[in-house]
Amino acid sequence: MDLQASYIVVGGGIAGISCVETLNTLTQESILLISGSDVVRVTTNINQLTQALVQFDVEEKTASELEKSCPGLKVVTGVTLVSLDPELKQLKLSDGRVACYERSVCLCLGASPKKLCGSENAADLVLTLRDMESVASLMEKLKSAKKVAVVGNGGIATELVYTLKGVQDIVWIVRDKHISAAFVDPGAAQFFMSSGALTEAGQKKPETIIKRLTYKSFKGEKKECQGAALGPDWHSKFNIQGPAGDQMPNIKVEYETEVKKILRRGDSDFPKKHNEWPMVLELVNGNFIGCDLVVNAIGVVPNCKPFEGILELADAQLGTGIKIDKGMRTSAPGVFAAGDIVFADWPKEKHWFQMRLWTQARQMGSQAARSMATPSSAAMFDFSFELFAHVTTFFGFKVVLLGLYNGQGMDPSTWEALVRVTPGKEFIKLIISNGKVHGAVLIGNTELEETCENLILNQLDVSALGDDLLNPDVDIEDYFD
Ligand SMILES: Cc1cc2nc3c(=O)[nH]c(=O)nc-3n(C[C@H](O)[C@H](O)[C@H](O)COP(=O)(O)OP(=O)(O)OC[C@H]3O[C@@H](n4cnc5c(N)ncnc54)[C@H](O)[C@@H]3O)c2cc1C
Repeated sequence: MDLQASYIVVGGGIAGISCVETLNTLTQESILLISGSDVVRVTTNINQLTQALVQFDVEEKTASELEKSCPGLKVVTGVTLVSLDPELKQLKLSDGRVACYERSVCLCLGASPKKLCGSENAADLVLTLRDMESVASLMEKLKSAKKVAVVGNGGIATELVYTLKGVQDIVWIVRDKHISAAFVDPGAAQFFMSSGALTEAGQKKPETIIKRLTYKSFKGEKKECQGAALGPDWHSKFNIQGPAGDQMPNIKVEYETEVKKILRRGDSDFPKKHNEWPMVLELVNGNFIGCDLVVNAIGVVPNCKPFEGILELADAQLGTGIKIDKGMRTSAPGVFAAGDIVFADWPKEKHWFQMRLWTQARQMGSQAARSMATPSSAAMFDFSFELFAHVTTFFGFKVVLLGLYNGQGMDPSTWEALVRVTPGKEFIKLIISNGKVHGAVLIGNTELEETCENLILNQLDVSALGDDLLNPDVDIEDYFD
């Protein structure tokens, strides 16, 4: 046997490393980490804001740095998993070696960006942000770009549109009626817009933006496998700038539309009036956008290919991914999975749902390790699966999302939203049904995260408070004491 260990973890992103680190604290047995990327992502400075909300920094470490901090761990990088045989407990690797595990394996291969339709035609002008290599490529291409189209409406597109400077124009193409729809509702989007999110006036001073990431490793070589995914504040460590330095671009949003076709200058159907641009996007709404560069951020697809026919996978309608139970067990004995690659297939707590986020990758990796080390299924379940909780920064505002913050999965006729807005300062929305709080969106420094978390978890009846629940002169904590 080429490589052998009691436990094998595949993937050097947040999920894989959190699995390795937790396993290392629970067992003295040998652990082998196999990662396509040369460096791994380690979480540091963990800051527990509330019981459910966690913030942390992310650092890149080399294989030897990680080995030093985890005795019993061997790290093999720059090699990818090609196939898995759960019966033989074997993995075939891209360099021809076979790795064998005695107890269990955890698959943390992450996800890959969805391709923009027609992008094969202009691969060099369409960029997808996922890892360090793609950021380096973006920085290079921006050097001569005047007009950039950003496609997508999630966190990556939102952060990029806010951060990108030094180009004349940005066209932001979203398929929804409002911006940042993967995270917020039209009311919160309106709050951002009226706070000047897309204008020079709305730019926050750098010190108000939370910095959480250290990147040190990218050397610019072409890799066989994508690196670990970027995460919060990746942009704050780089100059994401076009030729005009820090000049604020004009930003136009194309709402409720998608890219239908990508045309290159020289194509027979390239519209002549856009001849000054190397490419044109034809949109479903009939508009044509000439530009130098497209950044594609329309979501990800879990890296499940090597496991088709071997493990149970969720179908595309469900959202794809390796199906796992609450102990992160897949359909094959001894095979666990965590992070962006999985589809959470267990009867979930009412106020938790899966979203492919850094925090969930970390929680899942650590949960997988606990289950791997305690296979009798007596493993403790992480509290984080009780309540969806996410903290991030959009347009310079702190954004906290708790529980069913957009009424996810609830019958729309059964809930109402209680909203308080102080323009340019804060936006608070509570989702209330039968007198109980089920979710919250807190934008700005509201200092309400702990109270809202408790209200959701304890399901206290707040109907007696009525609208006073969000009255700044009423101290809700006192009321419940
Ligand atoms: C630009 C960007 C911004 C983001 N912003 C946020 C944010 O603000 N907040 C947030 O919570 N989340 C954010 N995310 C999402 C977050 O980064 C991911 O959910 C999280 O990092 C997933 O971790 P993971 O370990 O599952 O996967 P990854 O980090 O993708 O790691 C997968 C690992 O597996 C390796 N690998 C892949 N295939 C193979 C193979 N065949 N064999 C061996 N190794 C393999 C890769 O090299 C990598 O090391 C963002 C993502 C991106 C791309």
